[in-house]
Amino acid sequence: MMFPEYRARRLRKSQAIRDLVRETTLTVNDLIYPLFIVEGEGIKEEVKSMPEVYRFSIDKVLEEIRSAVDLGIKAVLLFGVPDKKDEVGTSAYIRDGIIQRAVKVIKDNFPELVVITDVCLCEYTSHGHCGVVKKGQGLYEIDNDETLQLIAKVAVSHAKAGADIVAPSGMMDGMVSAIREALDEAGFMQTAIMSYSVKYCSNFYGPFRDAAQSAPRFGDRKSYQMDPGNAREAMREATLDVQEGADIIMVKPAMPYLDIIKMLRDNFYHPIAAYQVSGEYAMIKAAARLGYLDEERIMMESLIGIKRAGADLIITYFAKRVAELLQR
Ligand SMILES: [Zn+2]
Repeated sequence: MMFPEYRARRLRKSQAIRDLVRETTLTVNDLIYPLFIVEGEGIKEEVKSMPEVYRFSIDKVLEEIRSAVDLGIKAVLLFGVPDKKDEVGTSAYIRDGIIQRAVKVIKDNFPELVVITDVCLCEYTSHGHCGVVKKGQGLYEIDNDETLQLIAKVAVSHAKAGADIVAPSGMMDGMVSAIREALDEAGFMQTAIMSYSVKYCSNFYGPFRDAAQSAPRFGDRKSYQMDPGNAREAMREATLDVQEGADIIMVKPAMPYLDIIKMLRDNFYHPIAAYQVSGEYAMIKAAARLGYLDEERIMMESLIGIKRAGADLIITYFAKRVAELLQR
């Protein structure tokens, strides 16, 4: 069909028609709200590079979650910022760790809320890497298989505390099967795994490392996170995770990797999550503050783009703002 028989503009004539033919709609059900939790009481401190994003103590995070739940948000993703760090991230899997306590209190207060926990070591290790570091002759290596044992312990401790979904983010080989096995063995057959299947070694994580105090003290994460130039490798990573028993697969970051989200959507039947990361958030905030962009509109457009690419779930620091806007 060609012009003049076909006129695409007919279906853009009015708001009502546009509403009728819209292909992708954002709803509050798509959103996962990430939260940073610190030790202490009465703490709500803003992250410098992420305006209007805060680190909360457990008492304060309950207030924040109350307001999110009132807006219809159904899921949170928790990151812990512990006081004590060591070489092997012990505070990540102790029974009274920051996340273990937070999950328990949150589930006691909001039993309906889906509580997802980040499962990694980088916030808990003194060196800031996502795994056990082996050093020798000026070189270092992240020991994959030793790390698996630790993150399996982390996952089980979160499940014990009441987490609905655990989300391993360290990009270790075999992390999903190690966690699945440990969860099942401990009786947590119903705890789901949302795997950070395709996590790129991205510079868009900068502000997050401020928030979670998890920047590596030396070296970088290139030996475990993916090279931004690779797409086919994303297929291999996602295939592995699905075979190992991941319930949800994730792409991180979102906006610079929409082609990857689309590729996974076309090739997998599992739900796909996308993480609109701290750098994506910070760019929008900064541009809006300078008056270069309209924050609300850019926020909505960036998220509709992520959903259109194929994401079923979107982790975003804008979650509350979006929910508010959708309610209006
Ligand atoms: Zn990590």
